[in-house]
Amino acid sequence: MDLTHWINGKHVKGTSGRFADVYNPATGEVQSRVPLATVAELNAAVAAAAEAQLKWAATNPQRRARVMMKFGDLINQNMDRLAEIVSREHGKTLPDARGDVQRGLEVIEVCMGAPAMLKGEYTDSAGPGIDLYSMRQPLGVVAGITPFNFPAMIPLWKMGPALAAGNAMILKPSERCPSTSLMLAELAQEAGLPDGVLQVVNGDKEVVDAILDNPIIQAVGFVGSTPIAQYIYGRACANGKRAQCFGGAKNHMIIMPDADLDKAADALVGAGYGAAGERCMAISVAVPVGDKTADALIERLIPRIEKLKVGPYTAGNDVDFGPLVTKQAQDRVKGLITSGVEQGAKLVVDGRNLKIQGYESGFFVGATLFDNVTPEMDIYKQEIFGPVLSTVRMKTYEDALNLVIDNEYGNGTAIFTADGDTARDFASRVNVGMVGINFPIPVPLSYYTFGGWKKSAFGDLNQYGPDAFRFYTKTKTVTARWFSGIKEGAALNFKALD
Ligand code: NAD
Repeated sequence: MDLTHWINGKHVKGTSGRFADVYNPATGEVQSRVPLATVAELNAAVAAAAEAQLKWAATNPQRRARVMMKFGDLINQNMDRLAEIVSREHGKTLPDARGDVQRGLEVIEVCMGAPAMLKGEYTDSAGPGIDLYSMRQPLGVVAGITPFNFPAMIPLWKMGPALAAGNAMILKPSERCPSTSLMLAELAQEAGLPDGVLQVVNGDKEVVDAILDNPIIQAVGFVGSTPIAQYIYGRACANGKRAQCFGGAKNHMIIMPDADLDKAADALVGAGYGAAGERCMAISVAVPVGDKTADALIERLIPRIEKLKVGPYTAGNDVDFGPLVTKQAQDRVKGLITSGVEQGAKLVVDGRNLKIQGYESGFFVGATLFDNVTPEMDIYKQEIFGPVLSTVRMKTYEDALNLVIDNEYGNGTAIFTADGDTARDFASRVNVGMVGINFPIPVPLSYYTFGGWKKSAFGDLNQYGPDAFRFYTKTKTVTARWFSGIKEGAALNFKALD
């Protein structure tokens, strides 16, 4: 089956003759092909979006919010269908796919309050007969470029605030999981979004470069791996666009000797292996403080890991996680596990040889646990993005904190401890964007904002929440004077308004 683009409110076939295969990761079979757009297709979609945006921006904010409200309703009503599409292309379990949709829906819910977010400021009588006010105006046409790992949530993070603020959006979803975005576009139309305001243009590097070079596109919101985030940030900025580009991660969880180790082990299993570790907020490094803590933690992790059930999403709710997204990802993760062994880490649980009956060609890797990992090893330096948890033993809290501080990524981190002072010190000193205290995956709720530090994010503002409305709008400030009762001649000096 060949998928489409979504242009001007319709499914449109690609004209390039180029396609990417979309796999069913559980069986390893190609289930569809996604068209890869040309520069000309992108430019036509952008021109149509620019025209549609003018009317959309002139629609009052409350009406736009009502479209968001209906959109949210429809997402909710279609939760199971959306989750099925997510699971079919990504491979994650259905309950996890529902979470993917849910966390995107929550951003749409906040966008129902867009009129309040878009309010300007007003100063009455800032000088004689002078009033001063500011307003937030949409940027025009903006682009969202999204990764494979949250096929519903991240496109919704991008489109919700951008559209509610009065922009038109060109959405370029991952070519590995494109179908959820196409269905979301259908639902947005059903909710009342005018045609052309949301264009889903599928493609690869060719269309991404066309987005970065198109002079009509004013801003680019990207989420994906760090090298691509850095590339997109550089090229978008060089072309005068506003850009926020969120990259990869290596998230550490410190386990203090006073932590509840059963709870810490449960948290590590969930945060390390959920979604097969394909989450930018997955915990991939456990940092127990002291050998006694480390030994007791490993002892608790092993039986929990051995109980995990890996399988296709169709096998039902007792599957804990599914396959990786592609054969390439599977080979890469297995290769990194082998490198860990070669470089001297202790392989405690090996997931490389997992075979699932009936799904022998699926892209599965079993849960893997390493102990005695050191910062020089590739399994520590690289984002593995698979079900692999590395244990780096540290002697003291300061050593553990410095390990996190020295890591080049800064998306999320967590500490498990019973001591409030230690937790508070950690939250204050760590140079990471999202911090959990006895909480392993601290993705902030939709009325806060989401963003990492260091090489996990390029650009100034975070995703969703108030920052997203700042990112997708420009401030205009007006100084207005009315002359009644004012006797003033020409003023040649730049002076205070008094
Ligand atoms: P990716 O960087 O391979 O792809 C992301 C997007 O960029 C896709 O739409 C893809 O088509 C496009 N792209 C890929 N290569 C390109 C190139 N050479 N030139 C131009 N565009 C290109 O990322 P992925 O594998 O889809 O997603 C996984 C990555 O995303 C992980 O590193 C993960 O940590 C990260 N991620 C980060 C966040 C965050 O908010 N920080 C959230 C989710 C995922």
